[in-house]
Amino acid sequence: MAISRLLIANRGEIALRIHRAAHEMGIETVAVHSTADADAMHVRLADHAVCIGPPAAKDSYLNMAAIISAAEITHADAIHPGYGFLSENAKFADIVEAHDITWIGPKPEHIRTMGDKIEAKRTAGALGLPLVPGSDGAVSDIKEAKEIAEAAGYPVIIKAASGGGGRGMKVCNSPDQLETLMQQAGSEAKAAFGDATVYIEKYLGNPRHIEFQVFGDGNGNAIHLGERDCSLQRRHQKVLEEAPSPVISAEERNRMGGIVAKAMADMGYRGAGTIEFLWENGEFYFIEMNTRLQVEHPVTEAITGVDLVREQIRIADGKPLSVKQEEIEFKGHAIECRINAEDPFTFAPSPGLVTSYHAAGGMHVRVDSGLYAGYKIPPYYDSMIAKLIVSGRTREGCIMRLKRALEEMVIGGVKTSIPLHQKLLSDPHFLDGDYSIKYLEQWLSEQG
Ligand code: ADP
Repeated sequence: MAISRLLIANRGEIALRIHRAAHEMGIETVAVHSTADADAMHVRLADHAVCIGPPAAKDSYLNMAAIISAAEITHADAIHPGYGFLSENAKFADIVEAHDITWIGPKPEHIRTMGDKIEAKRTAGALGLPLVPGSDGAVSDIKEAKEIAEAAGYPVIIKAASGGGGRGMKVCNSPDQLETLMQQAGSEAKAAFGDATVYIEKYLGNPRHIEFQVFGDGNGNAIHLGERDCSLQRRHQKVLEEAPSPVISAEERNRMGGIVAKAMADMGYRGAGTIEFLWENGEFYFIEMNTRLQVEHPVTEAITGVDLVREQIRIADGKPLSVKQEEIEFKGHAIECRINAEDPFTFAPSPGLVTSYHAAGGMHVRVDSGLYAGYKIPPYYDSMIAKLIVSGRTREGCIMRLKRALEEMVIGGVKTSIPLHQKLLSDPHFLDGDYSIKYLEQWLSEQG
């Protein structure tokens, strides 16, 4: 049963992250890559590498047949999907398992349930998680919609059942706009996702985004690893994440963490997951669950000392969770900056040749990145090229260290978001931990 050769169905920093965990467990790795990524760091470091197609993701990193073939010819006995690409594709998980390859992820049925937003909300409610008030499922009838919106209270948000990436949502301020906006939301959802189904929720004015990391063993045991505050977002994309949240007390963490861990245990959830909430005036409201590893997982690792990828691999291999809830201690503070190859203030992408590279170092500084001098950032994929994760005993100390580490980072030849982070780290509201999901866009519009 034990996994001995792991295929990494991803690219960039997360492919490298998975390779590192595997090698530390004595597991060989297989990299799969598009023609554009032949010189990528994880491809160089992996024990085996297979080219699976041309640059376009649909022909390579989303090409299920090519990935399964690569696993077969290299005799890989497990597949880790990383995040994005096929990581939340239940059909792919089914196919992997049908080939007797270990899927390092949740049970396909749970990926499927949580991938449908209405089904996810219903399941979360049945498991005792607090929901945003709104419709109990799909809404098509305008009379019913008006009653629901009235009961929840305006403004409300109309959301696509099959939505994702912050798309297919409409905020409605009054009953006379409801019919038009529902029709618009439905037709946009149909065009974008092939499904016109919409539902209604109360629109929260100024919430924070707070998510809980959970782990289940698939046999009814589950733990939580505390929360991450990911409220600093631009166009629903997270920019900087921290753990713990500046607004959550230890009692609140234990209470809410206990609720989410119990929900996962009751569900029989297997592997890593993230339960996302909006938080306003001391109340949590479930919005969705991600059935995979998150980009921002290192801040949790920094404050708990638990290697989340190692844990994922162990659980997929049928081993128990390596830590008990009572053994998990939350120590100090950690912040992650996502460093993108883009103009720091216009956000125009800036792919191309990296002429020089120096990673920050020192105590409690971690850089997850496949960059090296001479690497050519391809224009075909996500612009995130590095994650800088810094921890410290206090939030203040962590911020000082983060400023110091950002000064040390050198990424020559392309524009990066480092100057944006440097500016943000001096903002008085950020320093006070006083920000909601609206804050970053408002702050950006004031920078000029
Ligand atoms: P997606 O799957 O498209 O990312 P989510 O349901 O996670 O959709 O919502 C994305 C973002 O939209 C949230 O992080 C939040 O900023 C905003 N949002 C979603 N629901 C609400 C709501 N009820 N009230 C206010 N903002 C919301």
